[in-house]
Amino acid sequence: MALERTLSIIKPDATRRNLTGAINAKLEGAGLRIVAQRRVRLTTAQAEAFYAVHRERPFFRDLVTFMVSGPVVAQVLEGENAVARNREVMGATNPANAAPGTIRKEFAESIEANSVHGSDSAENAAIEIAFFFSALDIVG
Ligand code: ATP
Ligand code: MG
Repeated sequence: MALERTLSIIKPDATRRNLTGAINAKLEGAGLRIVAQRRVRLTTAQAEAFYAVHRERPFFRDLVTFMVSGPVVAQVLEGENAVARNREVMGATNPANAAPGTIRKEFAESIEANSVHGSDSAENAAIEIAFFFSALDIVG
């Protein structure tokens, strides 16, 4: 087992409903440590850059519009197998398919407004962490 870091984003549907603390409690309850955290309002260009891998997907435009509709909270999570552990506590992309007790099951509004983002691999985590944070911002 390896100590890993992953990028998490609390999305605008969740910040709007004042769920940052409730989501952080779920993350910490899953054994993840929040070693950096920043609340930001993304610009359209920043959201497009962050989700560039989804550029060709039919939902890309809507997703970008949603991600700039309010503040987000970007976080670096640290823990054993942090990438997979965070994906587990997040639950499935579509809240209708998410397991009981997961963040998306309890809080997500829809497949788009699904409350959290989590990196899907260690490689992407490194890229996504660097998108929001410098090394000095991360205090393990
Ligand atoms: P994330 O990358 O946000 O952690 P994910 O890896 O579970 O979520 P992806 O397939 O990477 O899901 O999709 C990225 C995001 O795009 C989703 O979290 C969701 O907000 C949105 N999305 C995905 N599929 C759809 C869809 N069919 N319709 C609308 N929005 C979608
Ligand atoms: Mg994804």
